[in-house]
Amino acid sequence: MDERRAAASPPLEAALAIEGATLVDPELGVVEDALLLADPARILWVGARSQAPAWRLRPAGERVGARGRFLMPGMVNAHSHAAMTLMRGYADDLSLMPWLETRIFPVEARLRPEDTYWGALLAAVEMLEAGVTAFADMYFFMEETARAVVEAGGRAVLARGMVEPGDGSGERALAEAEALFRDWHGAAGGRIRVMLGPHGVYTTTRAFLGRVAERAAALGARVHIHLSENDDENRRSQATYGKSPAEVCAETGLFQVGCLAAHCVKVSPRDIELLAEHRVGVAHNPVSNLKLASGIAPVVEMRRAGVTVGLGTDGAASTNRLEMFEEMRLASVLQKVRLDDASALPAREAFAMATLESARALGWADEIGSLEAGKACDAVLVDPARSPALWPHFDPFSALVYSAEPAAVEAVWVAGRKVVEDGRVRTVDVERLRHEVTRRAAFLTREEG
Ligand SMILES: [Zn+2]
Repeated sequence: MDERRAAASPPLEAALAIEGATLVDPELGVVEDALLLADPARILWVGARSQAPAWRLRPAGERVGARGRFLMPGMVNAHSHAAMTLMRGYADDLSLMPWLETRIFPVEARLRPEDTYWGALLAAVEMLEAGVTAFADMYFFMEETARAVVEAGGRAVLARGMVEPGDGSGERALAEAEALFRDWHGAAGGRIRVMLGPHGVYTTTRAFLGRVAERAAALGARVHIHLSENDDENRRSQATYGKSPAEVCAETGLFQVGCLAAHCVKVSPRDIELLAEHRVGVAHNPVSNLKLASGIAPVVEMRRAGVTVGLGTDGAASTNRLEMFEEMRLASVLQKVRLDDASALPAREAFAMATLESARALGWADEIGSLEAGKACDAVLVDPARSPALWPHFDPFSALVYSAEPAAVEAVWVAGRKVVEDGRVRTVDVERLRHEVTRRAAFLTREEG
C-alpha cells in the first residue's frame, strides 16, 4: 500500500541530495546508507535510502556522494566570545579574576569595532572548519560580529555584553543592546538572532538585572549571562546580596524571560532546582573551566533534574581552540572521573549536548540541532579517512565524541549553502584574515613604554 501511495504522489523536488553516508543524529540515532534531501535551505526528507520516497533533483541541483562518511548536524557552540581570538594565548596559566582584571580588561579597553570584526571572522572560520555551524556570543561591537558571521556564512545568536559598575553606564549599553535587537534579530534570512547580555551578577547591580529582565520581556528577547563560574563569584554574590547568583537572577526576573546561563560550575542543589523550575538553558564549557581552574560542573545532576545543558567553548582567550569535539570528549570523561563512574555521561549524551541540547539552550531547537525534516539544512560531513584517530571505528557516537578531531571535517552546509569544502572555508579570504588578526593582536597587546 505504501508503494502505491508513493507511486501516486508527484516526485519530491530537491536542490541538494547527500547520499550514502552514515547519519548520526541526536534524535534519529544512527542510520546506515542514509539519504538527506534539502530544498536546499530546509531539510525535505531524511532517512534510509532504501525507504526514500520518489524524488528528483532539480536541474543544476547538487548531488553529494557520501559513502564512508558520517553525516551529522552542525554543532552548536552555546557560549563564546568570538572576537577574543585576538587574545588567544596572550594570558595563560592564570585563574579567572586575575586573568580578567590584570590581562583581559586592559586589552579590551583598546579594542576598536574593526578589531572585533576581524577577531569574530577568525572565530567563525575556525568554528565552521571544525563543524560548528552556530554559536551564542557575548561581546562588544556586536554589529561587527554580525557582519562577520553573515560573511563567513554561519549562524549566531549575539548579545552585547553589559556591565554596570554602579555608575549608570549600563543604561547606555542597554540602549545599544536594544538597537542591536531591532537591527539584527532575524537578519540574514534568520541566521542572526539577538539576546540581551548582562555579563554576570558580579559585574552588574541587582537593579540593573531587573531593568534588563523588564526590557527583555518588552522586546521578546532572551538573555545570556555568566552564572556561578567559580567559588570567588559565588562569594562575591553572597557578600553583596546574601544569595547565590542563581537566586539573584530568579529574584530579578532574569530567569523568567528565557535565559541562557554560561558555566553553572558551582551550583548548589537549590540552584539546580531554580534552573530546572525556570527552564534555564545551561552552557557547559569544560575546557575553559579546567584551564581557569574553576572546577567541574555537576552536569549529570543538572540533567537528572531536567535542566537542558548544552556545550560551549567560551572565548579563545581562555580556551585557545574553538572546537567542540574536544568539549564533547572532556564533558564526558570529566563526569566519569568526578562521579567515579565510567558509565556517566556516555558518548551519545555528550553528542546530544553539542547539538540538540545546545540548540535548546539557545531557544533555537525549532530550526537547528538535529537533521530532522523541516529544520534548517545545517549539516556536517565527517570523513574518517582524513584522520588516523578514526581508524577503525565501531559505534559512530563513540567515534565522533572520543576520537574525532576538526581535521576529519570534510564539508559543512549552513542553510543548505556549502561553506566548507575539502576541509576549508570557501567564503572568506583566509590569507588576508591571517594578516589582519596577526597585526591587530600585536597592536592590542603591546606593552605601554
Ligand atoms: Zn564567557
